[in-house]
This record gives sequence, C-alpha cells and structure tokens, in this order.
Amino acid sequence: DVAIVLFTRDLRVRDNPALASACANARAVVPLFVTDPALAVPRNRARFLADSVAVLRQELRELGGDLIIRHGDPVAEAIGIATRVGAQAIVVAGDVTRYAARRRERLDRESARHRIALEVTPGSHAVVTPGDLRPAGGDHYQVFTPYWRAWRAAAWRQPHPAPSAISLPEGIEPGGLPAAVSGCSPALVPGGERAGLDLVRRWLDGPLTGYGDKRDALAADATSRLSAYLRFGCVSPLELASAALDRPGGAEYCRQLAWRDFFHQVTAAFPDMGCADYRPGPRQWNADQDAIDAWRTGHTGIPIVDAGMRQLAQEGFMHNRARMITASFLTRTLGIDWRHGYRHFAELLADGDVANNAGNWQWVAGTGNSTRPGRVLSPLRQAARFDRDGEYVRRYVPELAALTAPHIHTPWQLPETRRRQLHYPNPIIELPVSH
Ligand code: FAD
Repeated sequence: DVAIVLFTRDLRVRDNPALASACANARAVVPLFVTDPALAVPRNRARFLADSVAVLRQELRELGGDLIIRHGDPVAEAIGIATRVGAQAIVVAGDVTRYAARRRERLDRESARHRIALEVTPGSHAVVTPGDLRPAGGDHYQVFTPYWRAWRAAAWRQPHPAPSAISLPEGIEPGGLPAAVSGCSPALVPGGERAGLDLVRRWLDGPLTGYGDKRDALAADATSRLSAYLRFGCVSPLELASAALDRPGGAEYCRQLAWRDFFHQVTAAFPDMGCADYRPGPRQWNADQDAIDAWRTGHTGIPIVDAGMRQLAQEGFMHNRARMITASFLTRTLGIDWRHGYRHFAELLADGDVANNAGNWQWVAGTGNSTRPGRVLSPLRQAARFDRDGEYVRRYVPELAALTAPHIHTPWQLPETRRRQLHYPNPIIELPVSH
C-alpha cells in the first residue's frame, strides 16, 4: 500500500499523528508539502515556513524518504500524485480554520471521486483536540477557567516516536524548496524542528523554573519564545506539555498552552473568529487612520506602547504583556476596531495564527471570551508594574535610551527644551488621569 501524507502546519517528524499513521499502515509513504499561493503568507511567516520545510526535508531524507514539494492547489497536487503512484490513502492533520475546513471538504470530495481513502488525524495542533472537551449543553467552552479545569483533568494520548525509516515509491520528482524570502524582520528566529527542539531542551532544563514569577516582566524576556515553533508544528504541543508538566514552573506554563488549546476549540466552533465579533453587539469604532498609522509604526508618543510595536517590527515577535498593552491601547483607549490590530499583527508575527491572534484580540477588545469585557489596561500603570526600570522601553525606543525611570514612561512631562531634543513624538491622545 502507498499513502500520501499531506503536511500542512505540522512540520515535524516527532509526534506527528498523520505521519505515524501512514507509516504504520502503508508499505510506502509520500510526504508532500504544497505551498498554496491562495494563502498569501506574509514575509516573516513565509521565511519561517521555508526554513521549517527545508529542515523537514533533511530529516525525512535521513530516514530514507524525502519531502516532495509542489506549488499550487494542495488538493489537486495531492490527488494528482496519489493517482500517479497508485496511493490508496491520503492522510492529513485535522485543523480548525475556515481555510482548513474548505481544504478538507474538497479533499473529501476529490478523494472519494478517485476512490482514495482520506484520513484526517486529530491531535497534531493542540494538547487536547478541539471538540474533545465539551461543557454540559454546549459544543465548546466559552470561558477559560472551566475549560482549564476540564483540560487538567483530561487524559492525554502518548506521543508518537519519530518513524525509524520511510520508504518512498520511486520516480517522483522531489521539487524545489520554497523560494528565499527577503525583507523580513531583522531579528526573526530560524524555523524548523531542530531549532525548535533545541529551544525546548534549553527551556525545560533552565528558565522554565522561573516562569511563574517572571513571565510578565517585559525586560526579563523570561518566556519560552516557542510560539512560532508551535504555530508551524515544528514542536508538538503534546510532547512539550507532557515534558513540562511535572517540572517546577510547569503548571503555570501548561496553563498558557491550555489558553492556546482554548482558542483553538473556540475557533473550531466559530470559524469566523478572524473577521466577525464572537459576541456580536452594536459597537461604534473610531476610524482614525492617523492614529492607526502612529500605532502601527510605534510613534504614538506613549513609550510602553511604542516599545511593543517596535519589538514586533524588529523581531516578528512581541512579549505577551506588550501585546496586551498595545491591543488594549488601540481598541479601548483609541476606540479603534480590533480587526485593524489583528491584521497588522498577522502581517508581522512569526507565530501569527487565526485562533490565537483573533482570540486574544477579541478577548482584549471585549468582543470575545473575556468575562470582564469592559476592562481597560492603563498603559502607565502597566509600565510602572511590568517595566519599572524602563529597560524594555530603552531596548526598543532608542530616542529615549538616555532617560531613566520613571521619566522614561512620561517624556511629555519633561521640560520643553529637553523634550524637543529627544525627537520623540508627543502623545497622540491625552491619557485620562486615572491612567
Ligand atoms: P510563553 O509565555 O512561553 O507561553 C508558551 C506558549 O503558550 C506560547 O508559545 C503560546 O503557544 C501559548 N500561549 C501563551 N499565551 C497565550 C495566549 N494568551 N493565548 C494563546 N496561547 C498562548 N499567540 C500566538 O501564538 N499567535 C498569535 O497570533 C497571537 N496573537 C496575540 C495577539 C494578542 C493581542 C495577544 C494579547 C496575544 C497573542 N498571542 C498570540 C498570545 C501570546 O502573546 C503569545 O503566544 C506569546 O507571547 C508567545 O510567546 P512565548 O512563546 O514566549 O510564550
């Protein structure tokens, strides 16, 4: 028997349910990756993806197989190769977005037409597969805390080991790697399972211990930075959670992985999460293009906000606390529609994905799953709490590097001549006194 494994965002050989199933059930396996021009992946993610695909090909070659690479419609390519090599099955990881649902429907139809079995494997993208946990009387959890309780009590499957060997049918043209991508954020991290596993090892053996205490401290940079590796499946969330859980700091860390699962199961139930309000309501957003531009480029004149936005541009990454501060500033302080922020984040984040990006934006904007939808984060109070010494602002806003705390967070209060020398904008909005 021959099976095609259609890789999507599960770019790893370890604990890959689709690959494991194909290897267990077929004599020969065709690992296939198709870059789909319909997805229009922005530069940072395109680069991370290209790295990850190159590493996956190398790993599969070391196992005696290869990664077959095509450009075009993944459904047509998978069916085309399957009919050419006489494959009996196509195996693909289940996923939650609208795009993935359409791809699956078309795969369903086309494989049935060609008498090829389609297997959609659960368990690739989350620790607990969306839909596995359901509250009484509902199809998904709308509130995190009860979800977290159920998540902790759920039984996890055993991770799959990497296959020991892969046998590829002969005569398939391997295809070239995705083209090199330029114009990325200068400090973007390299993609791929190897870099991901390396980072996991270093994280588990050291800094995880201090995660609970330091995860919100902006300058400490004391989080795992594994999000892009999780986004592209270079790292298995289940393997990561299983390895972390019983270590010091592991429970706090797993709680964040459960947030990720939470937004996946919300998006599975509400696939329009990236464009429509989860909780619809009459809302008046403010369409101030100048304010949107100032926010995007990190020139709002509020240092803690600008530092976050500039970290994003420079690294294709932003600290979670800064994401919350910048998102709250855009939606609650400026009253701008969360979709503007969501799209800008999606353009630059290496970890940008529909479920987590939209889930968090809607949570902050009060249109989503928060139980306190009226909450506004005060940028100044957040700065005082999470960047007390101003080190995070100094790192990303060079105009302010010579200032010390607390003035670094309120440069508009400096004497006029001093303020002018900074070449840093005045705030685009006067923060309320309570801020
Ligand atoms: P760690 O603190 O080390 O956490 C470990 C992992 O848990 C992360 O890699 C991530 O997979 C998951 N996680 C942590 N916090 C969250 C959270 N609040 N929601 C969901 N998962 C979480 N995360 C994304 O992966 N993609 C996004 O597009 C994204 N957009 C966001 C937009 C906004 C407005 C906000 C407030 C948060 C967003 N997040 C997103 C969540 C979070 O900020 C990042 O996952 C985290 O900063 C990644 O850094 P880390 O890997 O060092 O996280």
